[in-house]
This record gives sequence, C-alpha cells and structure tokens, in this order.
Amino acid sequence: MSGDIYEVIIIGGGPAGLTAGLYAARAGLNTMLIEKGIFGGQITYAERVENFAGFPEGISGMELGDKMHVQAEKHGLKTITAEVTAFEITGALKIVKTTGGEFTGRAVILAGGAVRRKLGIDGETRLTGRGVSYCAVCDAAFFRDQKLAVVGGGDTAITEALHLAKVASKVTIIHRRDQLRAAHILQEKVRSEPKIDFIWDTTIFAIEGEENVERIRLLNNKTNQSSILEVSGVFISVGTNPDTEYLRGILPLDESGYIITNEKMETSIPGILAAGDIRHNSARQAITAAGDGATAAIYAQKYLTESTV
Ligand code: NAP
Repeated sequence: MSGDIYEVIIIGGGPAGLTAGLYAARAGLNTMLIEKGIFGGQITYAERVENFAGFPEGISGMELGDKMHVQAEKHGLKTITAEVTAFEITGALKIVKTTGGEFTGRAVILAGGAVRRKLGIDGETRLTGRGVSYCAVCDAAFFRDQKLAVVGGGDTAITEALHLAKVASKVTIIHRRDQLRAAHILQEKVRSEPKIDFIWDTTIFAIEGEENVERIRLLNNKTNQSSILEVSGVFISVGTNPDTEYLRGILPLDESGYIITNEKMETSIPGILAAGDIRHNSARQAITAAGDGATAAIYAQKYLTESTV
C-alpha cells in the first residue's frame, strides 16, 4: 500500500473523487483514493438529493455516497481513510503524507472539496456539539420539539431549515440580507412551511448558554437594533471554505484558497489536477463535481500516457 508508486492518487472521497476513482480504475490505472471522513463528502449531509440525474424519486445523500464508493471499488479503486498532512513534489513524483502512511503517485487528483465555514463569533466554538451544529441531518434528532435558529440564506440553510422543521417546534432563519440566495423551488417550499419564520437584515454576534445553547444575540444591520432570541440550537450554514491549507505555496490558489484549473481540470503543475468544490468557479453541485472527476481522470490518464518520466 504505502510504498508502492500509484499511477493516480485521489485526495477526497466525495462525488468528484469517487467518480475520478471510478474512471481511473476502469481505465486500468493503479489508483488510490484517500478520504479523511465519510465517503460521499458533503452530499452525505443531504437528507434527500433530488437533482442527481438518474434518481427520479431522489436518493438519500448517505446512500448516494455509499453507492458511488461501492461502484468505484468494484472496478478496482483502492481506498483508505486517513487525513492528508503534507504534499510534496519530487521531480515528476507526487508524495502525499497522511495519518495512514505516505503515498507516492505519478498523477494526483485533488478532490478534497470544501468544509463548512464558521462564523467566528463568541460562544460558537465553546458550544459546538452543545447546541451549535453545522449539519441538520446529523443532529436534528437531538432537538425534538425545541426552538431552533438557522443562520444563512443559501441552498444549504434552506434545506437544513426544512429538515429541522420536521422535528423542531419552531425554526427561525436569520439572514443578513432581505433576500434569499437559495434556489426558487426551495424558497417556495420554505415560505409555505408554517413552523419556519425569518429574521431579515440581521447578523448573529454571540451564542450564549451555560452548558448548552440557551439564546443568541442579534443585530439588525439596517436599524442597528440588537435583540435576543431564545433557542436551544443554532445551525450555521454560511457557506464553505476549500480544504487546501496543505497546498499553500505549492499550487496557485485564488484569493479564497480555491484551486485554479483549466477546462481539463489541470492545474499549472503537470500531473496535478483538481475536481469538484475545491476548484475556483466550481458550480458546487454533486453532479458537476462528478463530471469534474470524470474529466480529471481522463486527462490524468492522458498525462500518464504522454509523460516520459
Ligand atoms: P452559499 O450559497 O455560499 O450561501 C451562503 C449563505 O450564507 C448566503 O446566504 C450568505 O449570505 C450567508 N453568509 C455567508 N457568510 C456569512 C456570514 N459571515 N454571516 C452571515 N451570513 C453569511 O453556500 P451554501 O448554501 O452552503 O451552498 C454552497 C453550494 O452548494 C451552492 O452552490 C449551492 O447551490 C450548493 N447546494 C445545493 C443544494 C441543492 O439542493 N441543489 C443544496 C445545498 C447546497 P448572502 O446571501 O448575503 O451572501
């Protein structure tokens, strides 16, 4: 395992990485995929995925991730659960150091996706796991018949609020503007859910509670008025940051840390490609990530065929 030279190493086991793995393995390339958490990545947070073509009734995110993993392994993809700690380039070889050993590859596909963004406000870290959550599907069951807040106005915030409304007594969405960013269909659904209400033009600046979350402090951006909302849970859905810290100084990243690629998913370094949410200007959908993964594997194979080293 670690010690062999792989033709392709894939970092990240979400839709991008697993599809890249499926294509690379089916092409007969000796391919290792490294995932630090759950196979499926961010999609596993989705209770129901309705926009991945081929599943007319929808499919749970967890099941979709699992099926992708099983399918790729069936075609020969090797996988390991470990966290990447460092990335080095030695000539044409790429060395990936992980908590599970060191792996050397001729081509690498970076598909580590993005991680949930934190607000960085008082009480957020201290009360994480004690009422502060970043995943409604994971934690909703702890909040039966309780009052909850969701922060954010994008697809994730609205999807999470709809999910939470199934168990909570009330869900308040707190958004910093007076218009949602979420898709129209989600906006229609959320506005017709009687358990959900909104606080517009408002940011949250503190989360308070002795042992668990008891209340949040809010500030209206237009009137400058502060207020308190009593809730026992706060779900933070304010977007994501790319998982690229270990690549700083090695690859060109954009100002937010996303990897810059061309339309073949190639970075500026030969044999290093990137796919999915980790890429600058990605559409950030499971289906487009899968497409990126397929493209990356095809051009990784081309690189390996044409490379003389
Ligand atoms: P997003 O689209 O970037 O939305 C983030 C939301 O958080 C925005 O409403 C933003 O406000 C707000 N926000 C950001 N920073 C904030 C801060 N510091 N304080 C308060 N609010 C803040 O992120 P996302 O909702 O996680 O979605 C990410 C991607 O995944 C998107 O491309 C989305 O389409 C996709 N996605 C799709 C589905 C689906 O069902 N198709 C489901 C989930 C996610 P502003 O609006 O004011 O910027």
